Amino acid sequence: MPELPEVEVIRRGIAPQLEGRTIAAVEVREPRLRWRVPQAVRALAGRVVRAVRRRGKYLLLDCGDGHLILHLGMSGSLRLVAAGTAPGKHDHVDIAFGDLLLRLRDPRRFGAVLWTAGPPEAHALIRHLGIEPLSRALDGGRLHALARECRLKIKPFLMDGRRIVGIGNIYASESLFLAGIHPRYRANRLSLERCARLSEAIKRTLRAAIRAGGSSLRNFVGSDGAPGCFQRRALVYDREGEQCWRCRTAIKRIVQGQRATYFCPLCQR
Ligand SMILES: [Zn+2]
Repeated sequence: MPELPEVEVIRRGIAPQLEGRTIAAVEVREPRLRWRVPQAVRALAGRVVRAVRRRGKYLLLDCGDGHLILHLGMSGSLRLVAAGTAPGKHDHVDIAFGDLLLRLRDPRRFGAVLWTAGPPEAHALIRHLGIEPLSRALDGGRLHALARECRLKIKPFLMDGRRIVGIGNIYASESLFLAGIHPRYRANRLSLERCARLSEAIKRTLRAAIRAGGSSLRNFVGSDGAPGCFQRRALVYDREGEQCWRCRTAIKRIVQGQRATYFCPLCQR
């Protein structure tokens, strides 16, 4: 499933190619995605893409009088291909820009292609999203204030997108290891100091994933390959029984909210 770093890498890959360009046509071969692709999307020809932004895992193509909202769901990928490139079986939507096509491939069809004429922050899918982890809005003080009100354990707290958006399962485990915090620690018992360490750890983890994905950017724009998982050398994730890089204790695996959590029982308290 594409996570926030993957979506950010895609944004960085497509933004310079699309910003300032005019949509020539939109072809919807299969409208039955997570939600039906609305008619308004087919009528976008002539609009100029002013900016490509991201909110959580949603890509927002600012067209001046509205925004095209794209989400990759479980299995979606976006690629830039040359106009005239034959579509594959799961290539459901093309947005044509002269010699280039922005092509959505989505075998499981949990992705979304929607249009909103209002401000995107007010859209039903977006207005409940929590703060952006890579923005200045997230710092120790803000994290502490959010955590204080929450009775969850810290790992499920981090993964609740209504508080902080886009910290997926891998990144939650990795961030807690970096911050030295046990995944079962209660969110509302974390000190301000530990929250400051954790907010830094979240940013470091996500930035490292974006950097790792950025190096594969050339391969994904204009090719068949979608960016995969960027966590190439996990600190704890999926390393059950292997040695902690820091203290050599065996990494443990537990299940929280039906998701696997990995941690070092010695480094994380
Ligand atoms: Zn350790």
